[in-house]
Amino acid sequence: MWFLNPFEAIGRWRRARAARRSQVPEALWRMVESALPFLDYLPADGRPRLRALALEFLAAKEMAAAQGFELTDAVRLSIALQACVPILELGLDYYQGWVGIVVYPGDFLIPRRHTDEHGVVHEYGEAALGEAWEGGPVVLSWAGGEGVNVVLHEFAHKLDMANGATDGMPPLHAGMSREAWARAFGEAYAQFCRFVDEGHDPWLDPYAAESPSEFFAVASEAFFEAPLLLREDMAAVYEQMRLFYRQDPAEGERRARALSPR
Ligand SMILES: [Zn+2]
Repeated sequence: MWFLNPFEAIGRWRRARAARRSQVPEALWRMVESALPFLDYLPADGRPRLRALALEFLAAKEMAAAQGFELTDAVRLSIALQACVPILELGLDYYQGWVGIVVYPGDFLIPRRHTDEHGVVHEYGEAALGEAWEGGPVVLSWAGGEGVNVVLHEFAHKLDMANGATDGMPPLHAGMSREAWARAFGEAYAQFCRFVDEGHDPWLDPYAAESPSEFFAVASEAFFEAPLLLREDMAAVYEQMRLFYRQDPAEGERRARALSPR
């Protein structure tokens, strides 16, 4: 899936060209970035690289608004910046094979179909904040939920699916161990599910107990937004994500907090 074909090379060249042509005013960058405090956890040279990648992302993907949502430049830029944080050290190729991003103003209904034991088919809509299909578009709600980063979450699903399976294990790099990943995530997931089952209120969104793939997506949100907490609470999971994302945001958060103690 990762080999280069000539059409991709041309696509990459055209994207880079389109990205260079687009001019985003510095004030707009700053306004959008100020609403994303976790960008402070990037390494010192990360911000300009993230901006460049976000412009390439916007040139490569197509965003569409649903239900009358107004897709402003600020919203487009915010989605692109957030979507590019996980792939900052991986590259845009990790999001290949699909182009569409659909943005809803609030939560939306996903059509579901279920046949009961009497053979009766029930069709209904399930409320959701986001959804990602393999080879299909990413669907996002701009409203989001409390403490939920829908953009990071759905794009983490896209990385999970990049090897053809939505199982909480993205395509690991050479030198990484599938066993180490499975052990770290398996143990943390089992412990988390027990904790939630016992009625405790975890700091991580309890939705993570839904399935191993949801656990990976929710843990990915935490990896970028609350990395110190994640490293302290789930060290082995943090370590595997550090190897996969090739980033160490907990060190970035430590540095950022030392600079501006809260
Ligand atoms: Zn999810």
